[in-house]
Amino acid sequence: MQDVVEKVYEQVVARNRGEVEFHQAVHEVLESLGPVIAKHPHYADGALLERIVEPERQIMFRVPWVDDAGQVHVNRGFRIEFNSALGPYKGGLRFHPSVNAGIIKFLGFEQIFKNALTAQGIGGGKGGSDFDPHGRSDAEVMRFCQSFMTELARHIGPSTDVPAGDIGVGGREIGYMFGQYKRLRNSYDAGVLTGKGLAWGGSLVRTEATGYGTVLFAQSMLATKGESLEGKKVLVSGAGNVAIYAIEKAQQLGATPITFSDSSGYVVDEAGVDLELLKQVKEVERGRVADYVERRPGARLVTGGSVWDVPGDVALPCATQNELDSDAANTLLRGGCGVVSEGANMPSTPEAVEAFQKAGILFAPGKAANAGGVATSALEMEQNAGRTRWDFATAEAKLTGIMADIHDSCVAAAEEYGRPGDYVLGANAAGFTRVADVMIAHGIV
Ligand code: NDP
Repeated sequence: MQDVVEKVYEQVVARNRGEVEFHQAVHEVLESLGPVIAKHPHYADGALLERIVEPERQIMFRVPWVDDAGQVHVNRGFRIEFNSALGPYKGGLRFHPSVNAGIIKFLGFEQIFKNALTAQGIGGGKGGSDFDPHGRSDAEVMRFCQSFMTELARHIGPSTDVPAGDIGVGGREIGYMFGQYKRLRNSYDAGVLTGKGLAWGGSLVRTEATGYGTVLFAQSMLATKGESLEGKKVLVSGAGNVAIYAIEKAQQLGATPITFSDSSGYVVDEAGVDLELLKQVKEVERGRVADYVERRPGARLVTGGSVWDVPGDVALPCATQNELDSDAANTLLRGGCGVVSEGANMPSTPEAVEAFQKAGILFAPGKAANAGGVATSALEMEQNAGRTRWDFATAEAKLTGIMADIHDSCVAAAEEYGRPGDYVLGANAAGFTRVADVMIAHGIV
């Protein structure tokens, strides 16, 4: 790391003690910026680097709610409004017991550059709570969402901050939060949240967008080598929104996804995942992966190890951060894996990324490969603002075009800064320069 960026990193570690995921995300970006600053030293002027690693605003709040037995629980809510140079803060809400300030900050920081890559005029933010929706009734989830929104509502708005879903937050939760926001404001601001239901301002393709985009990115990387996904064996982790639609798009492109997972274990289905059954189990019944295996002859559930122990051509980590370490990376490489496209945010540890890059395989970081979700959220905002609704083909064509543009921007930036084929450098450099140019134009704010 160059001296100038090293100093900024040390400050981040000193100022944000114990927030290891945030340190990791900042380190990855700053490390890529060496060649950018060397070529364009003005990006280090005006404390621009120091400003970009400091959130514009951090909100932390109490979320009290009552369960079905009448017991009161207190969770913690967060919204990190990280950077508004390019537009209103935009980024999802995560409900998971592991959520803390460091996790939300890492996600918000990544979001700045991801959103810049989409070229759609959206700033970076992220939020959530340490609430665990697993095993909670609809009524409990509703009461939690209403309490969470009661505080969040005063900080967000269609031109200020536009949250969406993430782990543990899907259409049901967005619905409860939108209902409460509307009641508090007495205003039908459709553009205040994305990931809405189709009957009340949602966009076709938003549900599918992150998973589809991750696979489209893999396809674009393969095309640079004259190859495609056709006939390839695909390993997917996770069994949520991103994983399910990554599997769907991979199947559409002629590949065979053979795995998925949740926190209870992973499933190997060598015949190819039965997508309708997986959707029934996960989306309709909110069940566990074992429920799939019970109804699918030939599929097996593995409760030790990880999905990365299975040999395959393409890996799509779609569960959570740091789910793929260097041992897993080396196992994947030995199993013949030649492509990794990250559907989750920061799922590969730095050591795993290093192993992939050393081996010279195609590796796409989440901030580029999973940007299809937020890109389609911005398309939802566009439809809300125009009081219009596009059909599926129109929205999907826009998503496909945006993913191709992101891919090409990463390739061009990697070449410009002397590391052709390095999608990590390409994504960070292209995202950073877009935000940095606008921060300079806006002065010291
Ligand atoms: P979901 O809640 O729909 O699904 C998450 C899946 O990952 C579940 O199968 C869950 O299993 C599993 N998982 C989560 N945490 C863990 C953990 N600690 N250990 C093992 N398994 C875990 O979330 P999404 O699919 O929306 O999000 C997945 C990833 O994609 C996240 O990293 C998210 O930030 C990222 N992402 C999502 C976008 C979106 O549009 N939804 C956009 C861009 C990125 P279980 O149910 O057992 O916990």
